[in-house]
Amino acid sequence: MTARLIDGKTAAAALRARVAEAAAGFAEKAGRAPGLAVVLVGDHPPSAAYVRSKAKATVGAGMASFEHKLSADIGQDALMALVDQLNTDDTVDGILVQMPLPRHLDEAAVLMRIDPAKDVDGFHPVNAGLLATGLDGMVPCTPLGCLMLLEQECGDLSGLDAVVIGRSNIVGKPMAQLLIRASCTVTVAHSRTRNLADVVRRADIVVAAVGRPELVRGDWLKPGATVIDVGQERVDQPDGTRKLLGDVAFEEALAVAGAITPVPGGVGPMTIACLLRNTVVAAHRRSGFNDPEGL
Ligand code: NAP
Repeated sequence: MTARLIDGKTAAAALRARVAEAAAGFAEKAGRAPGLAVVLVGDHPPSAAYVRSKAKATVGAGMASFEHKLSADIGQDALMALVDQLNTDDTVDGILVQMPLPRHLDEAAVLMRIDPAKDVDGFHPVNAGLLATGLDGMVPCTPLGCLMLLEQECGDLSGLDAVVIGRSNIVGKPMAQLLIRASCTVTVAHSRTRNLADVVRRADIVVAAVGRPELVRGDWLKPGATVIDVGQERVDQPDGTRKLLGDVAFEEALAVAGAITPVPGGVGPMTIACLLRNTVVAAHRRSGFNDPEGL
């Protein structure tokens, strides 16, 4: 068997086009474009690159991008004051504070300070609670993108056995909640799970969000399983180059799985597209409009 490739780039481009349409519809009704504020503390190069690509994608979808670059030695009070200011700024629909923050800053306190209605990362406990209770809140971008890819690939997920490897607040836990909401039978595995290979072997759907390159081997998979590989780690190669690897041994998995996301080009492109999606949805909800269709 050779698994089908789940093309995240094409799915993300289609989602971005729908977001741009919804943003234009919002601008017509509200008299302003939806706005996303991104806060970057310090100049950590990968974070600066993420912030640049988020800003570019935001503008590309017809939305306003507000960038706040702060010095690495900013104090907690000054950062909280900026979040307060963004919370009350009516032109800002979404607020994203790029993580990780420098060590002297309290990340949890900053996330808690963001107005849950503008929490387009979906990390605020209010949004985590809404997701867990099956109510509409802001859903974290990466698991939301994974769910969209799964529904595109499998259609109705109801009754399928799903294993999520990883229990982080940003990927594993919200992914499990989304799969429960989709009526899957869900197992969440983590570093203390016994016989992980046997657990994975039961699954119709495997979502790997671990950060351990090629942990999941081909012979761990049930033949025909759908595999979503969230992992992305840069690994040194013998020839001195660095390669981006996922949590799944891709070549081995190709021979067993029914469908699989490549790394890169799978989950990654969906994450930013879902951030744009969350921003335009937040704009609609804050203005009392119905959620845009098709998102
Ligand atoms: P994280 O916070 O470090 O969580 C990793 C999880 O994996 C933890 O729950 C940990 O278990 C579990 N784990 C570690 N070693 C394990 C093992 N040997 N067997 C089973 N479980 C194990 O990581 P994260 O933020 O969720 O990210 C995971 C990966 O996804 C990373 O590679 C990250 O770069 C990638 N990622 C990609 C995107 C994207 O847009 N494509 C977005 C976010 C993250 P314990 O809880 O027991 O420690």
